[in-house]
Amino acid sequence: MYKNIFDSHAHYNDKAFDIDRTELLGSLEESGICGVINCGADLKSSKESATLSNKYDFMYFACGIHPEEVDNLPYDYLDTLRALSEEKKCIAIGEIGLDYYWRQDNKELQKKIFVEQILLAKELSLPIIVHSRDAHEDTLSILKEYKPQGVLHCFSGSVETAKEVLKLGMYIGLGGAVTFKNAKKPVEVAEFLPLDRLLLETDCPYMAPVPMRGKRNDSSFIPYVAEKIGEVKGIEPQIIIDNVTENTRKLFGI
Ligand SMILES: [Zn+2]
Repeated sequence: MYKNIFDSHAHYNDKAFDIDRTELLGSLEESGICGVINCGADLKSSKESATLSNKYDFMYFACGIHPEEVDNLPYDYLDTLRALSEEKKCIAIGEIGLDYYWRQDNKELQKKIFVEQILLAKELSLPIIVHSRDAHEDTLSILKEYKPQGVLHCFSGSVETAKEVLKLGMYIGLGGAVTFKNAKKPVEVAEFLPLDRLLLETDCPYMAPVPMRGKRNDSSFIPYVAEKIGEVKGIEPQIIIDNVTENTRKLFGI
């Protein structure tokens, strides 16, 4: 039984949790969870994250516009995010970034919204939570230019890209993908990554780790990820978890 587990990326507002959200969140502390960051993906889910975080001592939230949600934003979306950021459980702007896996026809718009939110985070002295899929080159060049603090969540890049991220002083979030049978890059990154730059996450309800792959994910599955990273690095999983929690608290000022 592990303790002191911090899940740095969850979506408990998702409808996948409608059926048992209260029971599940009420049971997380018994599963050893000490903290959860619920991430917004658009204005609606950012507001839902704020509401949810007020109900649980262990829950914090990030507000932001995900790259898949950049169409038809209200002209004053940054003002809405700024107002949400003033709530006391808001600890980051996220998740924000670039996703060229789903769409390549709006790259310029994705970049514009990403940069606008980075500038907002810098204005507010908040870290960012970055989503980057099939867009590592553009993501890195924007991060290099604007130098925000934060984490690249569900990191899917190579060791070479990870080195660039570390040079910027940023953290790398790993989750269920490191346990997948076909995982090569995430395992290499887990092996290489210094313990003081690692965060753990679920991205729940998605990305459940083996042996729960395909099921609905939740924070109580994080030990499977810690065990896999522990195996790769030759370190006790609880030591991984303890270091990650310290990193998470440091990055987000919790
Ligand atoms: Zn997410």
